[in-house]
Amino acid sequence: MSDSPATVSHAPLDWAYAESKESTSIVSIPEEQGLYIGGDFLPAANGATYASVNPATEGHLGHVAEAGEGDADRAVSAARAAYETYWRDMPGKERAKYLYRIARLLQERAREFAVLETMDGGKPIKESRDFDLPTSAAHFFYYAGWADKLEYAFPGTDPRPLGVAGQVIPWNFPMLMLAWKVAPALAAGNTVVLKPSTTTPLTALEFARLTREAGLPDGVFNVLTGHGDAGASLVAHPDVNKVAFTGSTGVGRLIQRAIAGTDKKATLELGGKAAHIIMEDAPIDQAVEGIVNGIFFNQGHVCCAGSRLLVQESVADVVIDKLKARLDTLRVGDPLDKNTDLGAINSADQLEKIQELVASGTSEGAEIYQPECQLPERGWWFPPTLFTEVSQSHRIAQEEIFGPVLSILTFRTPDEAIEKANNTPYGLSAGVWTTKGSRILWMADRLKAGVIWSNTYNQFDPTSPFGGYKESGFGREGGRHGLLPYMAGVV
Ligand code: NAP
Ligand code: MG
Repeated sequence: MSDSPATVSHAPLDWAYAESKESTSIVSIPEEQGLYIGGDFLPAANGATYASVNPATEGHLGHVAEAGEGDADRAVSAARAAYETYWRDMPGKERAKYLYRIARLLQERAREFAVLETMDGGKPIKESRDFDLPTSAAHFFYYAGWADKLEYAFPGTDPRPLGVAGQVIPWNFPMLMLAWKVAPALAAGNTVVLKPSTTTPLTALEFARLTREAGLPDGVFNVLTGHGDAGASLVAHPDVNKVAFTGSTGVGRLIQRAIAGTDKKATLELGGKAAHIIMEDAPIDQAVEGIVNGIFFNQGHVCCAGSRLLVQESVADVVIDKLKARLDTLRVGDPLDKNTDLGAINSADQLEKIQELVASGTSEGAEIYQPECQLPERGWWFPPTLFTEVSQSHRIAQEEIFGPVLSILTFRTPDEAIEKANNTPYGLSAGVWTTKGSRILWMADRLKAGVIWSNTYNQFDPTSPFGGYKESGFGREGGRHGLLPYMAGVV
């Protein structure tokens, strides 16, 4: 029987995605977890603990130790002992074996770590599964490869480890920031004390268990969970030889002050307010996808997020129209749903900061656009947002929002684009979309940013150095350059 015209609908189909939730049964989180010092989980000296929560549900995920007075000292002493008794003098090819083992275990347990990362931090499972974990494992593989070739990395030099590295990381990429810091430190023969962020301690503690599984000698890797004061005691500890910090420019300044006058080596990876430039000859549809990835990846909790869009005036209307249409299709919600594009905001504090800056955008005269979307009732959420009519003096054009909020400005000439792009105290990253290769090179020469992507955005590879200029910090992580800050005798 053929369909009669009355039964055939020509209305647009409503392509709603069926829920596809990742199971959490693979993850088991101990109710109490200590500091990881010298191969053991130990309570903080004063017995303090705090609860880690899931930002998507506000649900309790277990207690972790809250490091206080004397705990940094215990961890640094354990790292020093491990350094002097075996790690420093272990041949590079032996150290490499541990790093390879860690990398392989991370691959084997990637799904479990991805789910844990998503539960503790709120990022979409498709990102933790397809980006954070594979890239973290890749960093361990990459630096494992260098561990026995340090003299070839910097020929004609006499590379030696520094000693104990005190490493402090933020909450936006907890595993990846751990990998960026721990892999080169261990490859170069240093031992480590790591201070994860208050809101995302769980994958670092699970990673500590993984290093045990890999047979890493006790004390080579230590974890100090706790708050900012624990980070401050760690970086100021007199027996720490190298400080590696990723976080805000404000805390970066405090750390600079704390270590001034000491012979500690330091790298600071700080904030950003990247310009993402769309020239009129850009492939517009691809550029729109690049813009979306540039600002909404990880809810915009990305230091190198393309948060300042600079569009050439002649194509601004079409780019903005297409962007709005694309925003309407983004799925915000349960980070454990494999369809989710934007997960939860990492903490109530971060949500407040985003809300305050967004309110300043509206009150300073910019025009806000947010698609209609149903946000979950519990947890911390913010819809994808863009601002037009933004001027350079607006706070939303100057300050890092660290959320899913895009500020759009326009320009007429390439010179004006460069001038506006560089009009920021930061200098971490930038993006350029154009079909002309010569223009990419012309712009890359003039943009004051550590990383410049062309016709793409947010591409990361362990072989490629990453780092900033100006108030985005100094030093490079990744690539051969990423070994330099962990070695003496190379320059
Ligand atoms: P944050 O407040 O600076 O915190 C970063 C880390 O430092 C956390 O572990 C924090 O502990 C700790 N900390 C706080 N006060 C400290 C002190 N006085 N001394 C030593 N450590 C201290 O930054 P965040 O809010 O977590 O992260 C967001 C920032 O990180 C953004 O500005 C972003 O751009 C930047 N970031 C930069 C990069 C890069 O590669 N350039 C990458 C990712 C993120 P608590 O969490 O316990 O307070
Ligand atoms: Mg948490």
